[in-house]
Amino acid sequence: MKLLVSDPISGRAIDGIKSLGIELDYKPDVDAEELKQIIKIYDGIVVRSRTKVRKELIDIASNLKFIIRGGVGLDNIDVEYAKSKGIKVFNTPAASSISVAELSIAFMFALSRHIVKGTDSLRKNEWLKKKLKGTELFGKTLGILGMGRIGREVAKRAICLGMKVIGYDPYIKGVDIEGVILTSLEDVLSNADIITLHLPLTEETRHMINKDSFEKMKNGVILINCARGGIVDENALYEYLKNGKVKGAGFDVFEKEPPEGNKLFDLDNFYATPHIGASTSEGQDRVGEEIVRILKEIE
Ligand code: NAD
Repeated sequence: MKLLVSDPISGRAIDGIKSLGIELDYKPDVDAEELKQIIKIYDGIVVRSRTKVRKELIDIASNLKFIIRGGVGLDNIDVEYAKSKGIKVFNTPAASSISVAELSIAFMFALSRHIVKGTDSLRKNEWLKKKLKGTELFGKTLGILGMGRIGREVAKRAICLGMKVIGYDPYIKGVDIEGVILTSLEDVLSNADIITLHLPLTEETRHMINKDSFEKMKNGVILINCARGGIVDENALYEYLKNGKVKGAGFDVFEKEPPEGNKLFDLDNFYATPHIGASTSEGQDRVGEEIVRILKEIE
């Protein structure tokens, strides 16, 4: 089997793949043009999110039998087209759940205690001790939209912090975490002090959080999005962050990535990271272990 890994993966994963006796080419910086030139010699390709496996590439990949995406979302792969060509598509859905959940919790703390604002002001030699009064997470209501793998990891941690947790997910029957109540979208929007998104981006969820949703939310709500850009209407968010109805927002994902010229960055109550939810040493190692496990099954 000849395998191409076209995005960065952990050293442990590379060692694991080699230990299976698979012929491996590791080209984490390969560009789209070079990829088109070389793809036909490979039986399989491992990608993260940088490499796009679109119809055009699939048409050239005459030997390709499988694609493994190290991560959850398959947005960078034309999955149905690949499948129609008999190419199997795998992902590693659970490997990054804890990393993303922890980043979501980190945004909650950072916004509640003005950590970025505090750092920024100190860098400017300002001493805002009196202005940066924070709020505790303890006793607050956390609303989770999407109670899948990551949503549930967030819920468990929030319960430990003494938060009340309500969630909305019309596609599941219940959640086996003590203290978590599943309810309607309206209920979450109008009762949560902090709302965190853990849904896929679909036709149904695109701009699910929009002007109408912000109107229903509590004054001073905090919004976290570590799921996918596009679930929140960024123009509406800008207005509601500016008028203060939304006290703060923490985003790891954006409608356009990288988000050039995004006016949200002009607002000091908008905290952000460059889509690093899954980027932890432990998360990457787990992705690597999953890739090796999938390859063992394929062999
Ligand atoms: P998951 O499939 O386990 O959970 C998603 C949940 O959303 C499911 O329970 C589903 O029923 C629910 N859902 C779908 N449509 C809904 C709707 N309209 N309203 C309410 N709930 C709905 O997925 P996951 O692994 O928990 O991932 C959640 C999100 O996080 C995905 O968008 C994924 O792409 C994203 N993610 C981001 C990063 C990052 O780096 N920031 C890393 C991994 C995953």
